[in-house]
Amino acid sequence: MSRLVVVSNRLADPRKSAAGGLAVALGETLKRTGGLWFGWSGKVVENGAAGEGELHVHQAGSVTLAELDLCQEDHDAYYRGYANGVLWPIFHYRLDLAHFESGHLSGYRRVNQLFARKLKALLKPDDLIWIHDYHLIPLAAELRAIGCENRIGFFLHIPLPPQQILAAIPSHEWLMRALFAYDLVGFQTEADLLHFAHYVKAEATAETVGANQFRAFNSTVQAEAFPIGIDVDDFQRLGRAREALETFESTRKEYSRRRLLIGVDRLDYSKGLPQRIKAFRELLQRYPENRHSATLLQVASPSREDVDAYADIQHELESLCGAINGDYGDFDWMPIRYIHRTIARKRLPGLYRACAVALVTPLRDGMNLVAKEFVAAQDEEDPGVLVLSRFAGAAEQLREALLVNPYDISGTAQTIQQALQMSLAERQERHVALLAKVKEFDVHWWCKSFLQKLEHTR
Ligand code: UDP
Repeated sequence: MSRLVVVSNRLADPRKSAAGGLAVALGETLKRTGGLWFGWSGKVVENGAAGEGELHVHQAGSVTLAELDLCQEDHDAYYRGYANGVLWPIFHYRLDLAHFESGHLSGYRRVNQLFARKLKALLKPDDLIWIHDYHLIPLAAELRAIGCENRIGFFLHIPLPPQQILAAIPSHEWLMRALFAYDLVGFQTEADLLHFAHYVKAEATAETVGANQFRAFNSTVQAEAFPIGIDVDDFQRLGRAREALETFESTRKEYSRRRLLIGVDRLDYSKGLPQRIKAFRELLQRYPENRHSATLLQVASPSREDVDAYADIQHELESLCGAINGDYGDFDWMPIRYIHRTIARKRLPGLYRACAVALVTPLRDGMNLVAKEFVAAQDEEDPGVLVLSRFAGAAEQLREALLVNPYDISGTAQTIQQALQMSLAERQERHVALLAKVKEFDVHWWCKSFLQKLEHTR
């Protein structure tokens, strides 16, 4: 196989297990091919010049890490302004939260050009390039513009919305045209792929020239769905390690008389957290047998705290949780434990295993790995139940979860009750089917199938 070059906004040292499944899976292929991982260093230089940045290249074993600094102006426009202020909300169907400023678009383009220039100097002719996520959509087009002829693939980790929503982005034609500079474009779900096909046919009069092969702007692009998975073996190994076992024991002890429900999310408006808390409130109201018995542990790990929409949701959640605890709580029982902190990855399998029900109810999510981790962490003899939003990418695969519409608070409360009441036999039957899928489509399958397709596309 040719050398693999991975490009993403942030990179991780693949030797560190805390890096998570994606870094581990990419890291394995990078190691095998003596590869290069290129991205932003995470450093913002106060008085740097726009469109410029220092590149730091170092070795992590056989993998070369190339990290680029960004100046404040570029970072504000590219990362905060365009990627997180326009693309993140719109791709999650939240037109109401998008802020369009032309300066942000030019900053996004400028940083992609900077990435292209710096990366081009490090490339070899037969490198296979894999670019990740919405921060870098135009990167292949910028690379092509300066003469790069390598095979280039792109994977979008977040959803791709329908044409009518994409078309609200003032520069949507430019953005979507940029995807035709890739040889292969990967999406999380078949639904995203359909949205792409519909968009390019309607807005760019693309022709279908083969199975999921589209021709427009004098280029042909192959598009496919590659649902991302977790590293099941690694996660189950973590589950047998000391920290997870301790977490399991202490959680079980602390809540010995309670049924535990768990939510683990980044604090993001796409995760449906207020709706989930309201559904839990309705559960207590409509099914009073859960009072003094059910406790919801909601982990909301801090994220993008400098953005207004994130601060707003944090206040809303604190107020909703406080009201439930005030209205229903007693001196020996609190309905909700709201934890606004990141829980170490090595503790999560123990926490998931101690819980009877997981609430994974985003309003929209590219995939949602927490759903898959919860399944992988369960005791096969006595598994917990997954309540999953039909709007998470994972719902296309995990059909044996209890699927809910998170906007329907009352319906969600009813389904949570169903989960709490489910017989052992039904829990086991659903769990066997879910685990088989989580295992079959793990992160190694994802990485391998994308790269195999990329190698054979052109
Ligand atoms: N996670 C974690 N600690 C936390 C919260 C989340 O380690 O306190 C991890 C979680 O285990 C999962 C990832 O962060 O692997 C979140 O991925 P997901 O696809 O669910 O959502 P995203 O944050 O990418 O939108």
